[in-house]
Amino acid sequence: MNEKAPGTGLLGEQSAVRTMTLDDVRLTYAVDGAMGVHPHVFFPFLPAGYWEGRPGTLNRQGQIVMSVGGLLVERGGRRLLIDAGLGPQRGVNPLGAVNSGALPDTLAALGCDCADIDTVAFTHLHADHTGWAFTQNADGTYRKTFPAARYLVAEAEWAPFGRGDSLPAATPAAVLEQLAATRTLAADDEEIFPGVRTVVTPGHSPGHTSYIITSSTGKRLIALGDAFHIPAQLGNPEWPSLPDIDGDAVLAARRRLMQELGQPDTVGFACHFGDRAFGRLTRTASGRDDWDPVPATAILPAPRQLDD
Ligand SMILES: [Zn+2]
Repeated sequence: MNEKAPGTGLLGEQSAVRTMTLDDVRLTYAVDGAMGVHPHVFFPFLPAGYWEGRPGTLNRQGQIVMSVGGLLVERGGRRLLIDAGLGPQRGVNPLGAVNSGALPDTLAALGCDCADIDTVAFTHLHADHTGWAFTQNADGTYRKTFPAARYLVAEAEWAPFGRGDSLPAATPAAVLEQLAATRTLAADDEEIFPGVRTVVTPGHSPGHTSYIITSSTGKRLIALGDAFHIPAQLGNPEWPSLPDIDGDAVLAARRRLMQELGQPDTVGFACHFGDRAFGRLTRTASGRDDWDPVPATAILPAPRQLDD
């Protein structure tokens, strides 16, 4: 693997496998694959003409680029994976298009076997965050893809599924059944891995959870999950995303997370922000909050493209 200098990518491109280090913590976007969504389908309430004025934010197909994958957190010989990608899927759907399924290969290229991960923590139970949680066997049964890992879900996220409710955009029933037998429930503000705490930020989903990772000297990274889908939602936190289930709660969650992002020495991680997943809260000349990409080393190119 070549050692390259840290850099930043483009919003309109699928994310490379980028890594950065905060003191004793190594953080790597373990990319599973490519997703593209139709802007007017996923963001039906944005001002007319918004996308037409920003062609650089879209891919060649006119879609918003949203890579999928997990954030690999390595510390003291232990490994945490936050979210598990979309899994092996390829094709078009009403939202756009996907080509995914590279996560185990990406981890292997990073020197990490699936069995080396001791904790998998989900931000929420949508299909593009749980895709690799389980692998189907030839006889139709399932096994944990990360056999040694605890699977953590916030109590508030699990509660509706525990009652038998089904929710739009959720994980397939087979995966929920497997999770019911294997998951560990986490509370708000619980330390789930050394230096990693939950922040339950509902709204996008019932118990959507962000994670704050703190290094040995107090530097922080906040894994934002799906609290934000595009950087423009930092400056316009009232702009909803199609799958959000509670707009008022989303707004409160975003305000809470932006307050955290505004603290010193704090970086954000937003898995769907094209090739700008690592970034910092900044303020534009016009006084609007925005996302300033933080340089991170691209150690592998994006493993999948939509037109592969
Ligand atoms: Zn989601």
